[in-house]
Amino acid sequence: SEASGDAAPAPEALVDELREVIRGLGRAYYTEGESPVGDTQYDRLFRALQELEAAHPELASGDSPTHRVGGTPLEAFEKVRHPVALLSLGNAFNADELREWYERILKSLADVTDEGVRPALVAELKIDGLALALTYENGRLVRAATRGDGTVGEDVTRNVRTIRQVPLALAGEPPEAVEIRGEAYMKRSTFEELNADLVARGEKPIANPRNGAAGSLRQLDSAITAQRRLSFWAYGVGPTSAPLAATQTETMEWVQGLGLPVPDTRATFGGDDPIAEVAAFCEAWADQRDSLDYEIDGVVVKVDRLDFQAALGFVSNAPRWAIAYKFPAREATTRLLDIEHNV
Ligand code: NAD
Repeated sequence: SEASGDAAPAPEALVDELREVIRGLGRAYYTEGESPVGDTQYDRLFRALQELEAAHPELASGDSPTHRVGGTPLEAFEKVRHPVALLSLGNAFNADELREWYERILKSLADVTDEGVRPALVAELKIDGLALALTYENGRLVRAATRGDGTVGEDVTRNVRTIRQVPLALAGEPPEAVEIRGEAYMKRSTFEELNADLVARGEKPIANPRNGAAGSLRQLDSAITAQRRLSFWAYGVGPTSAPLAATQTETMEWVQGLGLPVPDTRATFGGDDPIAEVAAFCEAWADQRDSLDYEIDGVVVKVDRLDFQAALGFVSNAPRWAIAYKFPAREATTRLLDIEHNV
């Protein structure tokens, strides 16, 4: 540092350092299933990097963590190339940021909607587990893959076949091909029983249900995965031979009809000011989250109409038509990293 000792670092140096720190945290989280810092701390560093990159476009770089999804797939598993990438989500940390996101959508859709149209929104709980893509062909589960880096994931079919809530054969009238997207997770009650067992046997307990889900899915011995009693819920559809529904709401009703677990906490908001209702929904769930037997870290808000979703499209690593409202931190946020003094 300079002679004064505490001069603010140049933006370029700060951007470099933030990228390095965020890459390191991402490796630990996505590849090793560990959380070196709290999620809120990670989100703050990530947001600081996004803001610096926006303020200094000359420092943009395609391999910044802000343009990437997840982590590198583990070598121990076969790789699966996703036919359509599994993406991350942009974040909103309060109602104002939700509204800004909605205003951007109104502007982008101005050309395809009639004047005054306020697109309806659907809000779903954001369960804290691990994203999976389940491929069904002629109604049979043929492959289950992790998100990996979004483009290439890990083939965890043998392990996922042990999850009771994942049907090996679809119900109803399955299409020739469909990819179901959703989250594998560990119930809070399962997590507590499992840890009591591990401790009784003198083994190391699992840090939290998310780590439990991630670690259990990446076992080389699927008998261990079976003992971990993971759960699953569906939140979307990837490539499919079936005709598309008109909305996310109808899509999820269809998925439920195929025999997949779909949470009934979803809510659709239309009317003149859907974002006000969505914000109330998010705040209510932030208060009620402990009443659930699984951990949620926020609410995912999506534009309900699929034609509007298609018109909105994507940024490099996330859809424009969805956003994750993140609950405020519960963890004590202590400064653990030097870089936090500068952001
Ligand atoms: P994300 O987890 O915030 O959002 C994307 C994911 O949300 C999807 O992949 C999907 O699995 C999940 N999801 C849950 N419910 C959903 C629903 N209803 N609809 C759609 N998706 C749903 O984004 P990310 O890029 O995977 O991870 C970033 C987050 O991971 C950070 O915000 C932080 O919370 C955490 N993280 C923490 C550390 C750490 O050191 N503590 C490090 C890296 C990442």
